Amino acid sequence: MTAPESQQNAVPRPATTFDDLPLHVTLRQGVREMGYHEPTPIQEGAIPTAVLGRDIIGTAQTGTGKTAAFLLPILERLLDRPRGPIYALVLTPTRELALQAEGFLKKLGRHTRLRGAAVYGGVGMGDQERALRGGAEIVIATPGRLLDHMQRGYVDFRSLRILILDEADRMLDMGFLPDVRRILSRIPRDRQTMLFSATMPPEIVRLSQEFLKDPRIIRVDPTTVAAAGVTHRAYVVSPDRKTDLLIELLRDREMSSVLVFVRTKHRADRLARQLEQRGINASVIHGDRSQSQRVRALEGFRAGHSRLLVATDIAARGVDVEGVSHVVNYDVPREPETYIHRVGRTARAQRRGDAVTLVSREELDEFARVERLLGSEIPRAETPEGMGPGPTQSYQRSTPPSRGIYRGPSAPRLGGNRPHGVGRRPRRY
Ligand code: AMP
Repeated sequence: MTAPESQQNAVPRPATTFDDLPLHVTLRQGVREMGYHEPTPIQEGAIPTAVLGRDIIGTAQTGTGKTAAFLLPILERLLDRPRGPIYALVLTPTRELALQAEGFLKKLGRHTRLRGAAVYGGVGMGDQERALRGGAEIVIATPGRLLDHMQRGYVDFRSLRILILDEADRMLDMGFLPDVRRILSRIPRDRQTMLFSATMPPEIVRLSQEFLKDPRIIRVDPTTVAAAGVTHRAYVVSPDRKTDLLIELLRDREMSSVLVFVRTKHRADRLARQLEQRGINASVIHGDRSQSQRVRALEGFRAGHSRLLVATDIAARGVDVEGVSHVVNYDVPREPETYIHRVGRTARAQRRGDAVTLVSREELDEFARVERLLGSEIPRAETPEGMGPGPTQSYQRSTPPSRGIYRGPSAPRLGGNRPHGVGRRPRRY
């Protein structure tokens, strides 16, 4: 970033309550009814600045409470406006995120007269068109579907004063930046812009330099987030025994609500089939599932009908499920940052949770990159007899791993003599 160091605020743990934040009493009531007691670090950092109308870059991922960190200032700033035109636009990468933000908006803003509309693909245009034509002051949209509406000529952004770019790095990963730029070229320049992104790849830095004015940068350190309340462990396992190991792990009744991450849609379906054959009910969400299938899967998981939700990373973005006891990385993510996103789904908003990773020998390099990002080794748990990666033991450490506790971000960095895949361009998916 080009912003001076003094503008970069590493946000400490919250010392304030919502009563200390500059929010109208009706919004504080909404917050209370959501069951939030104290602001999360990103909320404490962003809200006081955002209500003043200043641009913000928030580096924070799902699970940090970032949605309320931008929705509350939007509501606060729009409270006294007349009803009708679109004042605020939130661009977000997936329909799940759009729906989730709209759900939060309804709850947080229920004592206001402000209305929101979610605009996303995969469903009919009619209701969305009606909302855009004059029903909603706050529009939460995925870029492609919003452009479809804009091309039809009835979206009037002349009153727009606030723009949020949510999960900007994910929008980049999903190839949405050209659409985002097209939308940005057609909305008023005189506005407040807030950009939230877990990471700041060069394209996002460029975007922020182009479209934000003197932003305040609010950083929630990902390693701190990953460390807070999450216990990490890993099993080195033969790739064709991963399902057996997962089933073995599920004997632990503490694994009551398990989010299982796999790399591809195909692997998600295959795992769900294998589990079903063994009598274990699992819900599945991935990009090829229809909206109604996804909703059903999520509802089944939320209601506790299935103990497992098998998901690909993109499909799981923004999916809001309370009380996930364990995140299982059935596959090591290709990008280390994704690990942080995934484990952020357990121990949400400062609760406790467990992250378990099944690592095949082929994935050890990628897993080492995750450990480098966290700045700490993840303890290896003992793999049950016969499920290990085979006779070649080259993956073993020269020093025994620490067990059971995650040593946190201040722990010594990993030794430099292990292969980390450095210099390899991370694959996008
Ligand atoms: P987000 O990062 O916006 O996806 O939010 C993650 C989860 O944290 C959601 O389930 C929110 O309802 C919850 N959450 C947001 N803010 C707070 C808060 N201040 N206290 C407790 N939970 C919160």
